[in-house]
Amino acid sequence: MEQYEIAIAGAGPIGCYIAEQLASKGRQVAVFEEHHTIGEPIHCAGLVTRRVLDITNCSQEDIVQNTIYGAIIHSPKGTLLTVGGNKVHALVIDRQKFDGCIARNAQKAGATILQNHKFITAKKQHSGVTLDLQHDELMMSVHCQLLIGADGAHSHVRDSLGFPQPIEKLHGISAEISDTLLDPKYVHIFVGRTIAPGFFAWVIPTNEKGTTARIGLCIGKQHTHSLQHYYTTLSQQPLLQGATIMKRFGGTIPLGPLKKTATDHVMIVGDAAAQVKPTSGGGIYPGLLCASHCSIIAEETFQKQRFDEEFLTRYHTAWTKEIGRELSLGMRFRSVFARLTDSQFNKYIQKLNTQKTIEAINTYGDIDYPSRLAFPLLKTAPSLLSLAPTLLKRVKQ
Ligand SMILES: Cc1cc2nc3c(=O)[nH]c(=O)nc-3n(C[C@H](O)[C@H](O)[C@H](O)COP(=O)(O)OP(=O)(O)OC[C@H]3O[C@@H](n4cnc5c(N)ncnc54)[C@H](O)[C@@H]3O)c2cc1C
Repeated sequence: MEQYEIAIAGAGPIGCYIAEQLASKGRQVAVFEEHHTIGEPIHCAGLVTRRVLDITNCSQEDIVQNTIYGAIIHSPKGTLLTVGGNKVHALVIDRQKFDGCIARNAQKAGATILQNHKFITAKKQHSGVTLDLQHDELMMSVHCQLLIGADGAHSHVRDSLGFPQPIEKLHGISAEISDTLLDPKYVHIFVGRTIAPGFFAWVIPTNEKGTTARIGLCIGKQHTHSLQHYYTTLSQQPLLQGATIMKRFGGTIPLGPLKKTATDHVMIVGDAAAQVKPTSGGGIYPGLLCASHCSIIAEETFQKQRFDEEFLTRYHTAWTKEIGRELSLGMRFRSVFARLTDSQFNKYIQKLNTQKTIEAINTYGDIDYPSRLAFPLLKTAPSLLSLAPTLLKRVKQ
């Protein structure tokens, strides 16, 4: 049986980033990926901040398709709220190229990436973990001292080893379109029960001319129609008239980070651990932050030869300390947001549409840390406090 110090399930950005970090320390790392091609199938809108490229050491060239300066929010009755415009707030990336860059970095550092190797299940033993994998039609087993589950929203590692589940899983649909006439500097966000109940829909220009875009939406439990129905509603928006659909894809966003992400010989990270911003569904940045902690603790594990749950729980403590509060505030906000009716959306978007609140959003808005906007926003528009007493209670703590 093949033996590795570290086995990682999933060659997404999080698994490959951890592989690179640990291989560069001289660890023997194998990454098992179920698909034949890294970065496929795509399930991402590709909107990130520059922090993501800084962490991963991926150069902007090739990967960044467009820069975003602001957002135009569409209320259910069609009122527009325009925010930003003053500076670059986000980058639109080519996810396949981004994933490819991190995978190449991992390989350069000495990690082995084995594509077409699907993780099926694992058995913990005193000396480590035995993994059962499927390669083509064949079953095979490998042994490792440390297993890292970075196998995405539907993680088999999480499920087969009895970790808790994310609180919620949102289903999404997305498409690459062309022949659009968009302002390339602005993303469009549509809210309301008619278009994306429980979440929102988006239109993201993917080139500097505004002639191509990525559109999509996610829905929560509140939906009364199929995902396809809401997708049709989005694609019929006047903004997208004359557009051609090039490619469609789906995906799942796990929300509500796991209460436990480590056990003897095993850690869970990224989407597998639902380390995702509940307000936007963005998982690349928080996943990478957690991946950094995972890599540090994994290295210490080998140095100290401590593979027990008590030691590995240091990873859980470290990532919770860094972004646990941000994610839990996000879940609070989300629970209020998901219950808003269309008339409440209309009312609150109108309340936000003042020069003072827009200035506050432009100054403090940060898609990686949305909670930083809460206090400045409430200061400029105290009437927003009526949004939800539960949210207020939490923010005060
Ligand atoms: C519609 C949609 C839009 C999104 N938009 C954004 C966005 O704009 N910005 C943002 O930051 N985030 C976005 N996200 C979230 C983002 O895509 C994820 O947070 C990110 O991909 C998480 O990375 P990961 O490596 O943890 O998981 P993944 O990227 O899902 O990678 C997991 C890897 O594991 C592999 N795998 C799965 N099961 C197995 C198995 N059994 N054996 C072996 N390999 C396996 C998969 O093939 C995959 O390669 C979006 C998600 C969706 C669904």
